Order: sequence, then C-alpha cells, then structure tokens
Amino acid sequence: MFYEPARTQYDLNFQLFGIPVRVHPLFWILSLFLGMNLSGPQMLILWILAVFVSILVHELGHALVMRTYGIQPRIVLYSFGGLTIFDRRYHLRWFENILVSFAGPGAGFCFLGLLAGILCLLGQTQVLNLFPAAFGFETDGSCFVLSEYLTLLLYFLIQVNVFWGILNLMPIFPLDGGQIVREFLMYRSPATGLPLSLKISIGTAGAWAFFFFTHGMFFNGLLFVWMLYSNYQILQQITRRRW
Ligand SMILES: [Zn+2]
Repeated sequence: MFYEPARTQYDLNFQLFGIPVRVHPLFWILSLFLGMNLSGPQMLILWILAVFVSILVHELGHALVMRTYGIQPRIVLYSFGGLTIFDRRYHLRWFENILVSFAGPGAGFCFLGLLAGILCLLGQTQVLNLFPAAFGFETDGSCFVLSEYLTLLLYFLIQVNVFWGILNLMPIFPLDGGQIVREFLMYRSPATGLPLSLKISIGTAGAWAFFFFTHGMFFNGLLFVWMLYSNYQILQQITRRRW
C-alpha cells in the first residue's frame, strides 16, 4: 500500500548511523501544508524541522532494530511520513516483525522521554505545561523561559511525537499497530488471521474517520477514509481469491 516513490533530482540524500536516508521533495511540501495555520516563516521552519526530526527518529527505530537481525535497511521520507525499506528476501519471524514494527513508535516515545528529561534537568518544565494548549498554537510569550525559538521547537517536537506515536499504534494496516496486530493474528491462525486483521483495520479506521469528521478535522478524516478503503479493497481481493 505504501510504495517507494521514484527518485527525483530534488531528493536530499545522506547517511545516519550508516543507514542511507533519502528525503523526497513531497515530504517538505506536505509538512509545509500541515503547518499552514502557523503564523510567520520562523514558526513554519521550526515546525518543519520538528516534523523532519520526529519522523526520522521513528524510522531510525525501525531501521536500527532491523539491522540487529542482519538486514541493511534504507529510509525514505516522503508525502505520508516515512518508510523503512529492506530486501524482501530476508524473512523475519513473527515476533521479530512485531519488534521491528514497535521500534518506530518506541523510538519516538524514548525521544519524548529524553526531551522531557532534558527539560526537567534544566528546570524548564514550563514547556510541558504548554502541552494542553498544544493544538491551539496560542502562546502569549510568558512561558518562553528558554529562547523563544528553542521553546517553540521543543513544543512542536513534543506535539508531533505524541501525535505520530499514537497514530502509528492504531490497529490499522499499514500503520505499525496494524502490522503488529496482523503478525500476531496470522501467527495464531494463518487461515483467518489476515481477514480478521483487515476487518479490525476497517472498523478502527471507520470509527476514527467518524470522530474526525464530527470534530471538524476534515484532513485527518480523509486520511482514515483512505485507509478504510485500502483495507476494504485488500479484503475484497483475498475473499474473491478464496472462492
Ligand atoms: Zn513506523
């Protein structure tokens, strides 16, 4: 469902911990789009930086655990977050696949813990108090105990990591949570595991789409409708094949 986009001349390529990373230009465009409600170019740059770091940390979690199983992965950041790609000839066992899937959100939560720890050490926990207002982007400046930009960057990093971690743990394929549920159910029952995991994906995606549409979050709602439809299509295909 998530395909690797073709290479472009605008790709940014670099290596991190020996893992090749490619950033597709659509990644910057979508991050920019998601931050459209922010005022001013400085805020937008900090937002994009926070999205970039957070998604990179998430994918690095997957990639580093894969590497402990002798697989050499590569990371691609593009329009819908990121992808960690590896040679499909490698076959991981079910619990190894679950560990690899969990490592992405896990790395994000460890990163969150690290950020919170640094803030506590600096005695700057005021930034964490900002969090209840995190979705409103309203700051009056009184909480800028660090520099204003550093505070905003931390604030965005926390926001993106919480959102991305929770979203990815939803039991909806192809999100990490969906992969974990699918691996586990297929291990329990190879015959019924896959269709059951797809039905769970459809039900959960439908419930979230309904929630977002009824709470004025149209873009998020569309994303979950797209995941619902993709899972429905796969379910149709495998049921047809069986008959
Ligand atoms: Zn992931």
